[in-house]
Formats: sequence, structure tokens, C-alpha cells
Amino acid sequence: MTIKRITAKEKFKTIAQGWKIQYFSDNDMKWYPQKLAAGESAETIYNLLLFARTPKKVDEIIGNESWTQEFCQECRNYSKDVLEFTDEDNKHIYTVCISCIKKSLINL
Ligand SMILES: [Zn+2]
Repeated sequence: MTIKRITAKEKFKTIAQGWKIQYFSDNDMKWYPQKLAAGESAETIYNLLLFARTPKKVDEIIGNESWTQEFCQECRNYSKDVLEFTDEDNKHIYTVCISCIKKSLINL
């Protein structure tokens, strides 16, 4: 088992790459044409993300916080600070927010 902490502070640095993987077609060598939630094209958002220096700025550019958060499987909320537990085969990944981790330690 490996345990990795994922914070928005670290995560936002790779969001532009992740965005390109999701919205750029390597087959056609083109950006997907649809306008996104923020009302901009995927390419425009990508170009802005390249210069984003904080998670807050990433959220503003994209128009929501979905790219800087992880889902906590304990409280079922989104969080900007989680621990990710992965088994040896990389088959099972379990994500728990720091708030839930703290609560569980208090109850010991
Ligand atoms: Zn939680």
C-alpha cells in the first residue's frame, strides 16, 4: 500500500497538462470545439492555465473547483487536501480528506 497526500497547492501545477489530455484530440491535432462552463473554448482556457500560479486562479479560469479538488470517499464531499491510499496492484484507490483523517484520530 502506498499513501500519498494530494493538495490543491501541488495538484494545480499539472492541471494545464491534464486539461490538454482531456480536451485536445491527438488524432485530429485539434482542440475540441465546444464552449465550456466558463464560456471559453478549451484552447483559450488551456492558454490561461499555463500562466495560473495559484489553485484559486485555476478555479477562476475554469469556472468551478472541480480540477483542484478530490472526492473524499468517507464524507462524500470534495476537498483540496486528501490522502490517497493505493494497493500494491494499483487496482484499488481510496481517497480520504484530511478533515476525515483528523476526526478518526480524535476518536481513538
Ligand atoms: Zn472527508
